[in-house]
Amino acid sequence: MTRHFSSLRDLDTELMVLSLLASGEPLVLCGRVVDTSSGGIIEDGCVVVEGSVIRDVGSRGSVEVPEEARVLDLRGYTILPGLIDAHVHVTGLRSGDYVREALTTPAGVLCARGARDLEKMLDAGFTTIVDAGGVIGLHLRDAVAEGTVRGPRIVAAGYPLSQTFGHGDVHFLPVEYVDARTTRIFQPFLSLICDGADECRKAARYALREGADFIKIFASGGVASQRDRPEYPQFTLEEIKAIVEEARRARRFVHAHAEGAEGIINALRGGVTRIAHAIFIDDEGISLALEKNAVIIPTLSVVKLLVEHGEKAGVPSWALEKAREVYKIHVENIRRAYRAGVRLATGTDFFFEPLGTKFYGLNALEIHLLVTEIGLSPLEALIAATKNAAYVAGLEGKVGELKPGYLADIIVVKGNPDQDTRTLLCPDNVVLVMKEGKILKDRVNGQDAHA
Ligand SMILES: [Zn+2]
Repeated sequence: MTRHFSSLRDLDTELMVLSLLASGEPLVLCGRVVDTSSGGIIEDGCVVVEGSVIRDVGSRGSVEVPEEARVLDLRGYTILPGLIDAHVHVTGLRSGDYVREALTTPAGVLCARGARDLEKMLDAGFTTIVDAGGVIGLHLRDAVAEGTVRGPRIVAAGYPLSQTFGHGDVHFLPVEYVDARTTRIFQPFLSLICDGADECRKAARYALREGADFIKIFASGGVASQRDRPEYPQFTLEEIKAIVEEARRARRFVHAHAEGAEGIINALRGGVTRIAHAIFIDDEGISLALEKNAVIIPTLSVVKLLVEHGEKAGVPSWALEKAREVYKIHVENIRRAYRAGVRLATGTDFFFEPLGTKFYGLNALEIHLLVTEIGLSPLEALIAATKNAAYVAGLEGKVGELKPGYLADIIVVKGNPDQDTRTLLCPDNVVLVMKEGKILKDRVNGQDAHA
């Protein structure tokens, strides 16, 4: 049985979240809805949730409301899909001198801190994150999925693939310490070092064997690697093609760190359509990205925060110098890509959190920077953080939009983030977080209903 309602008198405004969870009753959220599918706003809208999925979305009166449904009156708030950080690393690190810290901190401590960082991201409205390399994110993925840890859904790369002298090689350690297959030390950034198409295939298969949801590769040097530079291309086209082929055979995809122009072009030519950083993307890279319908994840946030906090946090000087050097050109090149029509997605690339600062939980900074630095409209930036980021996560058609049949990943925020993204920078403004139909944060009435 269904009923239509058109007047507010029909709304049951009582919030009994925990009993709702227990009863499994359909739930209707009524307020201002941001539709990231069409890029429109439904001023007086409703989202009907049943079990773990969205059943209907539309303006009040147009949606069918099940007879037994409980209705949440969210007038004055904005309802939008759960946000997605499409490139971040859960490491538990609290220092920018990460290798030194990792070598002296027990793995269990790093995992516990990582679990805490996941909570901070969830409370900030992030219901999915893409962990773009690192064993802690890989393992915490399972802890979140089984319900042990309260956090966003994690789509994890696990061990990333790097060539010898690549961005994922720690140049000042013996190479056998760096490779996950040979090391006897633990640090969150263990890689699979591989050279030549055959070794690359084998490394890709090893990453899959360890549970990777997708394969992460380093297609260029970078800011945070000691002896290379962002401009250096890494992996040959043949090597990249071999990895992409292995991913495809296992129904997965490849996500490339690519900062230099040549590395970006190689990755795109090799079949990679998720390109992180893209600092030096040139005209050829832009037209290839358009041709392949690739998504770029610029990750401006980490560069900005490294410049601001890096020195105090112990980030090595060689990394800081490169970060300072590239930020301006990075912004200019991403602006050109955006104006040419390349799709962008939000990713912070946070990989540590200096003591006394707040990185995790500030993931919406990337949404805000896409507006203030690159020139996206707030609504476009929200699409970058939902629909486009869902593509990067390999979850397009499942999350990132409020559509019937999609997973009920929904957040409710104070203010109008489609007009002013600053509201998302404060996690207290995120009053409700729902993941797969379960309410994991509820502060609509000013108090936390989460037990
Ligand atoms: Zn990264």
